[in-house]
Amino acid sequence: MTGLSAGHPSSADDGAFLDDFVTMSTFGATANQGVDRQAATAEDGQTREWFTGLLRANGFTVDIDPIGNIFGLLELVPGAPYVLLGSHLDSQPLAGRFDGAYGVLSAAHAAMRTRDQFAANGVTPTFNLAVVDWFNEEGCRFKPSMMGSGVFTGLLDLEKTLATTDAHGVTVAEALQAIDGVGTFTPPSIAAYSEIHIEQGRSMDDANTTIGMVSSTWSARKYEIVVRGEQSHSGATRMKDRRDAVLGAAKVIVAVNDLLAKFDEEAVHSSISELYVAPNSPVTVAREVRFLIDIRARESGLLAEAYAHLQDSIALIEAECRVSIDEIGASIWESGPFLESGIELTRSSAEALGYTNDRVLTLAGHDATNMKEIVPTIMLFVPSAAGGISHNEREFTSDADLVSGLNVFTHVVTRLALGELPESLNALEAAASR
Ligand SMILES: [Zn+2]
Repeated sequence: MTGLSAGHPSSADDGAFLDDFVTMSTFGATANQGVDRQAATAEDGQTREWFTGLLRANGFTVDIDPIGNIFGLLELVPGAPYVLLGSHLDSQPLAGRFDGAYGVLSAAHAAMRTRDQFAANGVTPTFNLAVVDWFNEEGCRFKPSMMGSGVFTGLLDLEKTLATTDAHGVTVAEALQAIDGVGTFTPPSIAAYSEIHIEQGRSMDDANTTIGMVSSTWSARKYEIVVRGEQSHSGATRMKDRRDAVLGAAKVIVAVNDLLAKFDEEAVHSSISELYVAPNSPVTVAREVRFLIDIRARESGLLAEAYAHLQDSIALIEAECRVSIDEIGASIWESGPFLESGIELTRSSAEALGYTNDRVLTLAGHDATNMKEIVPTIMLFVPSAAGGISHNEREFTSDADLVSGLNVFTHVVTRLALGELPESLNALEAAASR
C-alpha cells in the first residue's frame, strides 16, 4: 500500500451500503425475503433502472453495450485502462436477494470509496475504475447462463445471442428493448477484473471463514437432451409395443444420479434442472421429453469420465425402452485456477484488515469464470449461512459478513487501481504501444 487508509471506511459508509442493499432488495421482492427478477423481465428492468440512477447520482458515467451489460465509469486518469468490478442483478425464479446483487452493489460502493480515498489523499492511481452489471448471468429465461460476460469476452456470438428465444418465443433483443436495456457502448480497455459474491455453499460458514479467495473453478457441462418415443394410448397400447419417452427420461434421470457412486464423495455433482414433456396429456404415452443435465466436477478429467459413463448408460436405456436419446446443445466450462498473485493480494488485504480467510473453490459458474480467460481476475467470496442454501428465498448472509466482504473488496480494488497486481500492468504496455 502507499500509505492510504484503504478499506477502513466509516460506519456511516457501511450504513449507506446496507441501506442501498435493502432498497435494491425491494425490486422483484417475493413473500419470503427473496427476489424474482429473471433476465430482462420488468423486475430486472426496475432493478437496473434503480442501479443506473445510483451510479449517476454518485458521479459515474453510465452506458449500455449491445447485449445489455450496464457499465458505470469513473475516469480518474484520462486515457488509462480500467479496473472493472461487477456481478449480476438478475436472479433465478423465487431466488435469494444476495446472489449477484451483492457483488454489483459492492462494486459500486468499493469504486466510490476508492475514488474518495484517492481524492482525499491527493493520489493519482494507475488505472481508472468501472463497474458492470452483467446481463443474464443466471440463464434461466434465456440460455446459456453468463450471457453478458460471454458476449463481452467473445465466447458467445452477439447476433446469435440476441436472437435466442425464451420459452414463449421472445428474443433476447425484444426483451432487452422492452426494458430499454440495449445500447451501443464499446467498453474501454480493461487492466483487471474483480468480483465479490456469496459462496452459495457451506464450506466457509462451516469453517468460520469470513473471506474466501477463490482459487479455482469446477468444470461444468450443462446439456440439453431429447428423448423421442412414440405417442399412443396409455391404456390400450400393449406394454411391449410402447415407446414411452417419459420412461426413457426417468431412467436417464436416475442414471444421472447413480453415476456419482463411481466417484469419491463430493468430487462430482449432478442434477436435472429443467423438464418438458410432450404432449403432457392424460391418457397419452409421451412422444418426447426434453431436459437439461447439469454435471459438475472438481476437474475437467473427472467430468469427462462422468460424461462417458452416462453415455454408456444412455445407450443401454435407448435399447431397453425403444426410444432415441440425443444431445441437442451443450455449454461447457473447464476447471481452472485463478491467478496466484491475485489470491495472494486478496489474502494480504484480508490479513491487513484482520479477517479470517482461506482459499475456496467455486462450484458455481460466475461471470469471473469468463473474465479470467481474458484479463487478470480476482474473485472473493463471503459466507452463505443457512447451510449454504442458494437459488432459494432462504439464501442468507449476515450484515456483518456483507460489510466485511465490502471492506476487503475495497482494499483489493484500491490496490488494483494503484497497479499492485503485476499482471495488470500488461494493459499499460498495450495502451502505450497503440
Ligand atoms: Zn451469481
